[in-house]
This record gives sequence, structure tokens and C-alpha cells, in this order.
Amino acid sequence: MAERMLKFVGTPQAMPQKRPAAARRHDFQEIYSEFARDKAAEQAARCSQCGVPFCQVHCPLHNNIPDWLKLTAEGRVDEAYELSSATNNFPEICGRICPQDRLCEGNCVIEKGFESVTIGAVEKYITDTAWERGWVKPIVPRRERPESVGIVGAGPAGLAAAEQLRRKGYQVAIYDRYDRVGGLLIYGIPNFKLEKEIVQRREKLLRDSKVTFQLNCEVGRDVTMAELRERHDAVLIATGVYKARDIAAPGVGLPGIAPALDYLTASNRAGLGETVREIESGMLDAKGKNVVVIGGGDTAMDCVRTAVRQGAKSVKCLYRRDRANMPGSQREVKHAEEEGVEFVWLSAPQAFLGKKAAKGQQVSHVRTVRIHLGMPDATGRQTPQEIPDSHVNIEADLVLKALGFDPEDLPAMLAAPELGVTGWGTVQIDWKSMMTNLDGVFAAGDIVRGASLVVWAVRDGRDAAERIHGYLTAKAAAALPVAAE
Ligand code: FAD
Ligand code: SF4
Ligand code: SF4
Repeated sequence: MAERMLKFVGTPQAMPQKRPAAARRHDFQEIYSEFARDKAAEQAARCSQCGVPFCQVHCPLHNNIPDWLKLTAEGRVDEAYELSSATNNFPEICGRICPQDRLCEGNCVIEKGFESVTIGAVEKYITDTAWERGWVKPIVPRRERPESVGIVGAGPAGLAAAEQLRRKGYQVAIYDRYDRVGGLLIYGIPNFKLEKEIVQRREKLLRDSKVTFQLNCEVGRDVTMAELRERHDAVLIATGVYKARDIAAPGVGLPGIAPALDYLTASNRAGLGETVREIESGMLDAKGKNVVVIGGGDTAMDCVRTAVRQGAKSVKCLYRRDRANMPGSQREVKHAEEEGVEFVWLSAPQAFLGKKAAKGQQVSHVRTVRIHLGMPDATGRQTPQEIPDSHVNIEADLVLKALGFDPEDLPAMLAAPELGVTGWGTVQIDWKSMMTNLDGVFAAGDIVRGASLVVWAVRDGRDAAERIHGYLTAKAAAALPVAAE
């Protein structure tokens, strides 16, 4: 083993420099700067090169983390990039937005007492360096194949599948109902976690690799599933999940209460230079308002931090469980607290109160009730129970509902009534073949798993590409004429 490694005892953990909260509260730029070359090498060298690397086991892509850390420590960043990009289509994106504390870094064996290796930051450094130095090149397949694959959805699952299929020489067309490529990478996740240029340069790379895009094209409305199956030799459904869960409480329909994704999409569109009516009118603008966000996941964290940046008067996050039991990343909670967000743990909305406004009514308060965590349920999670007579009214001019997402009615949306779905509304696939009940139609990403993570979407997209390749090669082989005996 290189002498350079195993430096975790003498070298403390360090992340790239984080901009001070006072500065980042006022803009949407990413909060971490890039590692300098020496710093990346120094941090990579803290890895102890475990024989059984738990970091790798707990990365959904099983990235070869110890090897690319070692190469980075030795200054061989070009080789580190080759290795890292062999298992991940978007390492610089995952390096930025994976909840590493729950995945690779949370399972790094030197975590106890010494703090984990900063795997995500090194992964981002490697691929950002590759882009800077021109090592990231469009795909030129060794041979072109005549078969074409149609992909519904230009989110990370669809894009990862497209890249893998193009590498094998397939003709790939992606359809998306949005006007831009990236799915939630572009319209869900805010700039301060993932700047849009990072996604847009990936789009350009795919276009330069001859992947084609049909945007503003909703499958089920502008083109039918039957037409796609006719047009392509295989189809991949990667449409994500978008039906926002609602709150059943009196007053929930008052103006000033909005679904989280509408709010984030409006903010992202504005960040991309568009004039957004809902922001111009103040409807989805937090400026000068008391904002209450309901929920404890990644979407809620993105809402509170966006509201801070829009100049909210106060921002509160209401969550019915406690800090230890929230689904969002602890790192994100820390960023939000630094930026001035107040967390109201163990608290749930009971009703929304209104006040008179210029045009009718407008939300004025969230009536909350305190929660006690009771006995664990069948899943092992403690059941939230309301504490009687514990009401508190919280002032609110804008309330954002961030309670998670379910799949839309996919057979209806895609105009494919014969498509099989599960009881949760996700697409039913055979996990081995990743094929749906329709011959040649596959599915991947959130629409199969339910709302999940970008890294899982990439994994599913890659797996689906492999299965589609198997399906098409088997079909081509079966079509070959049988030699006469
Ligand atoms: P999506 O990204 O949702 O893409 C689906 C695409 O399909 C969209 O472009 C959509 O327009 C298109 N589509 C849908 N229906 C049709 C149709 N009928 N015809 C044509 N096109 C269609 N994950 C992380 O790992 N880290 C994070 O920090 C993180 N933050 C998040 C923040 C927010 C606000 C949200 C909502 C999610 C976040 N996630 C995060 C989760 C992550 O974004 C998703 O798991 C991931 O994007 C799923 O990828 P996908 O390709 O399956 O779907
Ligand atoms: Fe960690 Fe995500 Fe990178 Fe895997 S893809 S090594 S989980 S940051
Ligand atoms: Fe290195 Fe930590 Fe992975 Fe071990 S678990 S190989 S120390 S990064």
C-alpha cells in the first residue's frame, strides 16, 4: 500500500471551504467551494484502504471508492476519473447531493472517533477536474446498432440509461413533458445544492453523443405509448413520482398554502432567467413573509433554505417527529440552522387559520399541536400521538406542504390501461428483467421505487440499460435464419 495512505490519525477531516451563512443567505450559489488539488489529495490519503470497504458496500453504485481515493492521493486524477466514471454516470452530481451521511461516508470505518473520509467531496473534485481539463468526451460507440430505444423521462434514471445504451451503439430518443432536460435535477433541487450548469453540461454531452430529445412532449397526450412501442425496439419508462401528498386539515385550501414542488419549480425557473408569474405576483415568493414549511424530508429542507434566500421575514420547519427521526439529511438540517431556519420538532398542523386580504381570504396562522412519540409500529418507528390541549398558533403568510410524493395514475397518464402497477401505484416490474407486463417496455427510477434518491435512479437506469441490451440481443439472435441441417 502506498505510504501516502492511512493518514486519518494525523490529518483531521476537512470539507472544501463552506461559505459563511451570512453570505450564502443572500444568493443561490453552491455553498461549498472546490477542493484545491493538494487538499483533495490530503483528504483522500486519510483512507485506510480497507480490505472490506463498507463505504463501497453502502454506495448504491458500489463505486470503487478506495481505489479512486488512492489514485487521487497519488495525484493520478485522470486515472481516478476513469475509475470513478466507470460505475457512475454523474459522479460530480452524486458527490454534491447524495446524503453521504446515510450512505458511503456514514459507513466509513474510520468514522468512529476520527470522522469519515470526505468521499463525496473527493468524488466531486475528481469529475469537476475532468470537465475542466477536457477529459469528459462525447460517446462514439465502437459500432452503431440499428435498434432504437425510446425513453420516457429525462431525469437521472432516463439520462443514465440513455448514456449506457448509447455506449453500446443503440439509437436513443428521450421524451419529456418538461421544456428542459434533467427532471428533478433541474426543477426540484435548488441551485445552492446543484448549480444548473452542472446538469446542462451533461445534457450537451448527451446531445453531442447523438442522443436525441423531444421536449414539451407528454407521453399519453402528445404521443401514445402504443406509438412509442411501434417506433422503438424497446421503451423505458422513467417518469418519476409527482403527486404531492396533501394534509387533511380545515383551511388547507386557503390562498398562501402551496405544494412544495410548485414553489421550488418556480424558484428554479426564476434562477434560470425566466419571468415567473407566481413569483412576480408574490404568490410563490417568500420575500418579507413568515414562512412555515411542513415536513422533514429533503424537499422540506430545500424549501426552508430557498425561503431564506428569497428574503423571508422568518422561516420555520414544522415536523411531527424529532430530529433523530427525520428522513432528511442531518447535514442539510445543519446548513438550514446556520442559515437561520427554526425547527419546530414534535409538532403537527391541525388547522389553517385565515385573515381578510385584498382579494378574499389569506392564510394567517398554522394551528399546531404538540406530539409525543409513542410505541413503535410494525415498521419499528414510534407512532406520533397528539398531546391534548397543547395547541400553539404559528404566524404564517406562506405555508409550504412538503409531505412527500406518490405516483400519478400512470396507466391513465400514459394512456396505457394495460400497464401493470403495484398497490402503491408504482410500475410493476420483474426485478430480474426490469420489464413491465408489456413486452419490450421496461421501467426504472422513482416510478418503480417510489420517491428515492438520485444515486438510486442512476443505478436503476444503468441496470435497465443492461437488461434492455440483453433483451434486444436475444431478440436479434432469435431473428437470425437457422442454418440448414
Ligand atoms: P425524475 O427526476 O422525477 O424525472 C422524471 C422525468 O419524467 C421528469 O423530467 C418528468 O418531466 C418526466 N415525465 C413524467 N411524466 C412524463 C410523461 N408522461 N411524458 C414525458 N415525460 C414525463 N435526491 C438526492 O439524491 N439528493 C437530494 O438532495 C435530493 N433532493 C431532492 C429535492 C427535491 C425537492 C425533490 C423533489 C427530490 C430530491 N431528491 C434528491 C430525489 C431525486 O431528485 C429523485 O429521486 C430523482 O430525481 C429520481 O429520478 P427519476 O429519473 O426517476 O425521476
Ligand atoms: Fe457516496 Fe453517492 Fe458517491 Fe456513492 S455515489 S460514493 S453514495 S457520494
Ligand atoms: Fe477508506 Fe473509509 Fe472506505 Fe475504509 S470505509 S476504504 S477507510 S473510505
